[in-house]
This record gives sequence, C-alpha cells and structure tokens, in this order.
Amino acid sequence: MKIIYRREEEYRPVDVAAMRPKDSYRQVVERRNYPVERLIAEHGRIPADFLTERACPTCGSRHAVLELEKESLALVRCSDCGLVYVNPIFNEAHYKEIYQAKDYQEMVRDLGEASHDYRVERFGKERVEIMSGYLADSADGAPRYLDVGCSTGFVVEAARDAGWRAQGVDLNPSAIAFGQGRGLDLQQGALDDLAFEPASFDAVSLFDVLEHLVDPAEILRQAIDLLKPGGILFLYVPNYDSASRLLLGKNAVFIWPTHHLTYYTVATLGDLLRRHGLAVEFTATEGLDLIDYIWWQREMENRDVSALEPIADKLQFFINAGAYGKNLRMIGRKA
Ligand SMILES: [Zn+2]
Repeated sequence: MKIIYRREEEYRPVDVAAMRPKDSYRQVVERRNYPVERLIAEHGRIPADFLTERACPTCGSRHAVLELEKESLALVRCSDCGLVYVNPIFNEAHYKEIYQAKDYQEMVRDLGEASHDYRVERFGKERVEIMSGYLADSADGAPRYLDVGCSTGFVVEAARDAGWRAQGVDLNPSAIAFGQGRGLDLQQGALDDLAFEPASFDAVSLFDVLEHLVDPAEILRQAIDLLKPGGILFLYVPNYDSASRLLLGKNAVFIWPTHHLTYYTVATLGDLLRRHGLAVEFTATEGLDLIDYIWWQREMENRDVSALEPIADKLQFFINAGAYGKNLRMIGRKA
C-alpha cells in the first residue's frame, strides 16, 4: 500500500459532542450486548444451538487460530489469508432479532438522528469529495450513486446537494423514514429485494456495513453488479490494525463480536477487493482512536488522562497519517 503524505494543516477534528450527545456513548457501550447478556444470565453461557460454525468469509478456509475472546465469543485468524473474524457466530435468526430489538433501534435512532446535520457537513461532504476524485470520466455532471446501509441518509444528502442522482437503502425503518422526511430518495429493505438495474451506478458505497454481515462477499458481489464498468466502490470498515486496538487491546470499543463479525486490515480488505476483480485505487484511515482511548481510561478505568487531552488531536493526526486510524476507507474500481 502507498501511504499518502498528509499535511497537518489539512487535519479536521471531529466534534465528539455532536456525534455522541449527552451520555449516549456510555449507553451504547453498556446496552449494546443486552441480547447476549440476557442469554448468559439465563443459561450460564451462549447455548450451542444458538451458534453456527463459519468458514473464512474471504477465502473459505476452515483453518484458523484463536486471536482473542470477548463477550463470550471468539475472534479467530484465518491461517490461509490472515483475515480476523468471529467464529462461531449466532445463527441468522438471532441476528435478525438483535437488529430488530427495541434497544438497538433506539440506540441507532438516538445517535443517528440527533447528529444527522453534523454528519452531513462533517462526513457526508468529505465522502462525496473523496469519491468525486475517483469517478470515471464517463460519469457526467450528475453521477448515479447508491449508498447501501445509508442509515439516515447523511451521505446521500451531501451527494444530492452536490448535484448527484443519489439514492440510499437500509434495513432500518426508522432511519429510512427520517431521511425520507428530509426529501431524500431512500428505500427500506435488503439490496437484493429492491431490484436496482445492474451496471447502472457510477459509485456505490458500503459505509460500516461489511463488518456486520454473516456473508460480506455476497453483498460485495451485489454491489459490484450494480456498478457500471469503470465505476467505483467506496468502503468503510473498522481497522483491526488500528491505534485503538494496539492501545486498548480487546477493550477497543469497535471489537464488538455480537455485531462486528469480521475485522479487516489494509491488507485483508485489499485482498478481498482484488479477489472480486476490483483494482484498489485509494486507501486511507481516519479515527477517533485517541478520544476513545481517553474515554475508556477515564470512564471505565478511572484513570487520570488530563495530560493527554490537550494533545489528543495532534496525536490523532499522526495516527491517521500513518494509516493506523480506526476507520479504514478503500476505493476499488470495477474493470
Ligand atoms: Zn481466509
């Protein structure tokens, strides 16, 4: 991978108070494993008939070694391609239950709706700008764009405001209703139920989607089918080789095995895209690694981190510039 040199004056901090209003982040961390905790309280462990063994979601190998254990589940590392993934996982019926659970819906709604405007400005515009730099020349003034797993549509809104023909899909009905209320072209449902025309989009994105799926390769295939030749796929996943994990180990908040089932790195995400015939053209990381580290030490470990706070943004810039930020972004181009 080629690391792009980044200048410090271009660094844009994230307003964490806008992203995580009031006590919402603590609530996320404390409430997010409710379904598993309930099972363990009832049975003493996760009952075997709730679990299902899984081959490596990238290469299909069944050879893997234990990476770490957290929240009664295990992360393993594929002995053939190096991908880190949860195994065994819950069966699909249980995942449907998790995502439809009232707690999860409320958590997503509280975080997503309250920060929608901020996300359009801070993240939507930035993502549209990055994609603009990689659109094929054939994409005219109004590129066709689909955001899969669009949540409230904050990237769709930024793309529409930039003059794109922007659409979004998500499974979450309350997030879709919120975005539709703002006049966005959003649809609720699974990608393969919505019958978009193949080879009709200049850009498709999957932001924070792949890591949640039992079979990430399947949605990748569907997304690539929707792209015109020369079209781009823009991906966002948590970065397993990030400062967050290197500093906090398995306490890194993104290590969340009930919901994050696959853990990519620069190497293993690039490998996945190449296996699907895409040429990787852009790789970068951004993150809230230092903010998360400070938050964890102060809130969960009761440690004094006051010396770190004034330099957190500078340190985060260095982390991002070195490609160790918690959010991994990659653009692949269809042949
Ligand atoms: Zn593998």
